[in-house]
Amino acid sequence: MSFSDFHGNAETVHRLRDMLARNRFPHAVILSGARGSGKYTLALMLAQALNCLTPTETDGLPDFCGQCANCRRIAQSGDLDARFAEAVETREGLREADKKETRLFVQTHPDVLIIPPDPPQMMIKVDQVRRVIETIYYRPAEARERVYIFTDSAFMKEAANSLLKVLEEPPEFATIFLLSENPGELLPTIRSRSMVFPLAAVPVEEVERYLAEHRPEWKQSQRGGEHTQLFKITESYRPGAEGREKTERLLRTLYSLLRDLMFLGSGTPELVQNTDIQSQLTRMAETADFDWIATASDRLAEVERGMRRNLLRSLSLDSLGLALERTT
Ligand SMILES: [Zn+2]
Repeated sequence: MSFSDFHGNAETVHRLRDMLARNRFPHAVILSGARGSGKYTLALMLAQALNCLTPTETDGLPDFCGQCANCRRIAQSGDLDARFAEAVETREGLREADKKETRLFVQTHPDVLIIPPDPPQMMIKVDQVRRVIETIYYRPAEARERVYIFTDSAFMKEAANSLLKVLEEPPEFATIFLLSENPGELLPTIRSRSMVFPLAAVPVEEVERYLAEHRPEWKQSQRGGEHTQLFKITESYRPGAEGREKTERLLRTLYSLLRDLMFLGSGTPELVQNTDIQSQLTRMAETADFDWIATASDRLAEVERGMRRNLLRSLSLDSLGLALERTT
């Protein structure tokens, strides 16, 4: 992994890396943008670049190695949904009394703390900000820079006021990232103490370049028709049903759906092929980011390879179903 793996927003990424190069990285950064624009991915990459033990340079700007202990441990937080689910599960396992006292965090590196909104209200709570205050003034143990990433900007009132106090006097060795779909919901005083970097959805040229490079088989096919086929196929499909051709058609159709999700995610709904299920696809696109679509298409490729090795079709399709479940 390196900054070259980040899709879209090249100019913004360039600006951020340039500030790293000049040792001018701000103490509070707001990354704003729609779901799927890569806010979290970029924040983790910057956390790695701030703390890489063997930093590299690409295009004349600082980059991270992705291999050293700091890079690897920070990258373990990459699957935010999975880490969040683990944290929720751990809390569920506690005694009732402790449950109430315990706030959710994701932490895979001692100096990098990720603060997700706390369920059931799904808001950042004052006890979470307290943890930030308790730790932020201590020099990092294994990193150069303490990093805090708030993954959402929905703060309880008291939590927002506490955060403001930290932002008034942040220590030299700490960086706070605030990720937001709507920075307008942050206190104006928090915004004014932070540097705001808007991230646009991944532009369509970039999606097409990516597709041409990684998925040449996704060439634009005839508009329409595909979806009708999909429903015919799923209706008649039974585990172990005969017909390799049928499964292959299903896979092709799934590819076309992923492709549509990609277009919706990049803000170009006019390129969607399966137009009659566009509203369902739009809902899916809200929870499927670029990385997820890339992973899903890799899984599809695995199924295809599995078929070639004559694995049980039903088995590989079941595992694909599990992989795709996350979007629904
Ligand atoms: Zn590294």
